Amino acid sequence: MERSLGAGKQKEYVGFATLPSQVHRKTVKKGFTFTLMVAGETGLGKSTLINSLFLTDLYRDRKVPNAEERISQTVDIIKHTIGIEEKGIKLRLSIIDTPGFGDAVNNTASWKHVEDYIDQQFEQYFRDESGLNRKNIQDNRVHCLLYFISPFGHGLRPIDVECMKALHVKVNIIPLLAKADSLTQAEVHSKKLKMRDEIKQFGINIYQFPECDSDEDEDFQRQEQILKDSIPFAVIGSNIQVDSKGRRFRGRSYPWGVVEVENPVHSDFLMLRNMLVRTHMQDLKDVTREIHYENYRAQCIQSMTRMMVQERKRSNQSATDFLLLFFQLRKMQEVLERIQEQMQQSQRGTC
Ligand code: GDP
Repeated sequence: MERSLGAGKQKEYVGFATLPSQVHRKTVKKGFTFTLMVAGETGLGKSTLINSLFLTDLYRDRKVPNAEERISQTVDIIKHTIGIEEKGIKLRLSIIDTPGFGDAVNNTASWKHVEDYIDQQFEQYFRDESGLNRKNIQDNRVHCLLYFISPFGHGLRPIDVECMKALHVKVNIIPLLAKADSLTQAEVHSKKLKMRDEIKQFGINIYQFPECDSDEDEDFQRQEQILKDSIPFAVIGSNIQVDSKGRRFRGRSYPWGVVEVENPVHSDFLMLRNMLVRTHMQDLKDVTREIHYENYRAQCIQSMTRMMVQERKRSNQSATDFLLLFFQLRKMQEVLERIQEQMQQSQRGTC
């Protein structure tokens, strides 16, 4: 029931306007978690970009696999976890590093281990959710996959298409045009157009930015459109600070000039970071929970139900088999009794 107050009367407050701040206080206390996965060919700058994105050196102890290890794809999926704190807000960030795709001689289903990893996290969550201690579940589900595409090819490679198609139902894919500093502005533009066309043509469902509501302010709507038109984000990473014109920044220094990682004219790096951290982190988590995990959960429940029905059918079948056997035995017993009776009668007759 809605209660409208007459004009001129002072508006009465029940107090639920404080709900957002209550939620805010509770979630801040709990802290936030986010799991980001990176995939793509070795050497496309995955680790450098992650370091640049989160201003850390996550890969200090990294061992770059040699050619032999890459051929046999013995390199495992590695998880790095760091705690970041900013203005009192804690974020537990997990980065899942995957072995480079396309490194092995035989690349058939080289993304299989990535798919399995994502499924294992869903499975673990499903188990924990159905278990006794639901209060302290650790959410290790993968919320986003940054998929690195080589700047040196003509659009997507077959392995990119196959990989993204295999994973798009399980994770939010954000495609990146790697090492964008190796391309001219015109090349970046035409490659982006081509890749967007190919993504559409091959039916790859990458992460969709949520549609803006009509009452959203114009600036916000424009920003969202720019984001959509920038896919795949052209990125540049660097692990070093460059000094130039009295400034110090993360960048790459070349004989002909300096590239600034965070300069929006040079790349979409800043747009990607803002999108990941400032504007869409929660939506990425929501889509993971509401769509990808729900799909997994529904499939799990379906196959469990199917197994239970089969089991029941099998046990019904064995009950029927038992009854049949029982009746056969009864019949055989009757026949035997009749034969015994006849034998006894004939014995009596001869006496
Ligand atoms: P990963 O194997 O995909 O993790 O690639 P790395 O991050 O180890 O980078 C491989 C090489 O590429 C290193 O020599 C990096 O310095 C270089 N690199 C990384 N990011 C960029 C970039 O944005 N542009 C260019 N030109 N080189 C880069």
